[in-house]
Amino acid sequence: MFSSIDVSARNESFPNSLAEFSQIVGERYVITGEALEPYTHDATFMEGQVTAAVLPATTAEVSQVIGACSRLGIAVIARGSGTSLVGGSVSLSGGIVLSLERLNEILIDVGNVCAVVGAGAITGSIQQAAALYGLMYPPIRQAFRCPRSVATSHATQGVPAASSTVSRPTT
Ligand SMILES: Cc1cc2nc3c(=O)[nH]c(=O)nc-3n(C[C@H](O)[C@H](O)[C@H](O)COP(=O)(O)OP(=O)(O)OC[C@H]3O[C@@H](n4cnc5c(N)ncnc54)[C@H](O)[C@@H]3O)c2cc1C
Repeated sequence: MFSSIDVSARNESFPNSLAEFSQIVGERYVITGEALEPYTHDATFMEGQVTAAVLPATTAEVSQVIGACSRLGIAVIARGSGTSLVGGSVSLSGGIVLSLERLNEILIDVGNVCAVVGAGAITGSIQQAAALYGLMYPPIRQAFRCPRSVATSHATQGVPAASSTVSRPTT
């Protein structure tokens, strides 16, 4: 069964929510106005409508932003680098873009041959970090030219499961 959602009423709660988002992530990381343009589309022709982009720096901040949106009934579109070719990170019904670009930490655990990375870490950066320790992170080749985030590479199955760990080159 399908039903539509009227988001116009929900968007009325935005003035208050922008102040709340600013308290959580800092005012400079709540993007509105003209600066919002890069967050209104991905790599497709699709253009969306959002009221703000919110850029948390930690998982705790992500949790708080999601909590506020849940309480206020505001739609959330998660976003890595916005390179999706299917309009996945474009909101057609308002709400906020929750950009994970600041969650870009990369920890290489050489002993266990694995990496712990933030959702917004760029796949090419993980490969470069792994290479510093003689390891490799083997995503598909295009990922090096395309600044895609690691979270979506796996969430959208853009890379094979075997690529979810760093590994020692065999040659
Ligand atoms: C030149 C080029 C080449 C490409 N080559 C390939 C390819 O070979 N194979 C391929 O599969 N794709 C390819 N893509 C498409 C795109 O790069 C991938 O889908 C990539 O994984 C998207 O990463 P992103 O960080 O830009 O995600 P976004 O575009 O920001 O988001 C993609 C989707 O994931 C969701 N999302 C984002 N972050 C999170 C999160 N943290 N948690 C949950 N959901 C989240 C978004 O809401 C959206 O639905 C290519 C794109 C370009 C421009």
